[in-house]
Amino acid sequence: MRILLVEDDVMIGEAVVKGLSRASHAVDWLQDGEDARHAPEDVAYDCILLDLGLPGIDGSTLLSLWRREKVTTPVIILTARDGLSDRVAGLDGGADDYVVKPFELSELMARIRAVTRRQGGGSDSRLSNGVLTLDQATREVTVKNADGSLTPVTLTSREFALLEALLMRPGAVLSRESLENRIYSFDDEIESNAVEYIIHTLRKKVGAEQIKNVRGAGWKVQKAGSGAL
Ligand code: CA
Repeated sequence: MRILLVEDDVMIGEAVVKGLSRASHAVDWLQDGEDARHAPEDVAYDCILLDLGLPGIDGSTLLSLWRREKVTTPVIILTARDGLSDRVAGLDGGADDYVVKPFELSELMARIRAVTRRQGGGSDSRLSNGVLTLDQATREVTVKNADGSLTPVTLTSREFALLEALLMRPGAVLSRESLENRIYSFDDEIESNAVEYIIHTLRKKVGAEQIKNVRGAGWKVQKAGSGAL
């Protein structure tokens, strides 16, 4: 997933970037509210992690500006332990959830899964189209065989991120640019044919027919129940 982190505490910021990157997420970290002002319009983030006390523009103001401009990206507020009124104001102001500092990365990641799943309409940590199943919590990926048995596959971090992006929108064609946006952050160097290469290695692992190329448009995985691939 592509995640925006707006946090001016360097220790927290570094820890969150490190933890989320390890879980195959692409994270853009901004430390100033002013810099974050238009970020959700520039990139279609899957989730935003928002500190409240920020230089430039404070978190609550950012959130209300975004919501007024119909930015629907799920927002999780990172708040101080004694900030009960902040939490209430944040939720009333359009935040989807909050975590109290100091927090465990595992808790933050569970909350990210929960708010992004709510948006996608899912009910547990698994994304599936009936054949390919990816568990966002355990990171297990399986392919269902014709006889109904499951074959586990081991993916690299980028392969996992790319398959996750496709399985979050089964049936939808994702362009190379939109896939790049999902799996790379601003700081990543992107080779010109990186997405094609990841698709190539991913297909070798899950079966070439599982990831359809729509010529000139991009790639997709089939929707659940839409018949043989
Ligand atoms: Ca702060």
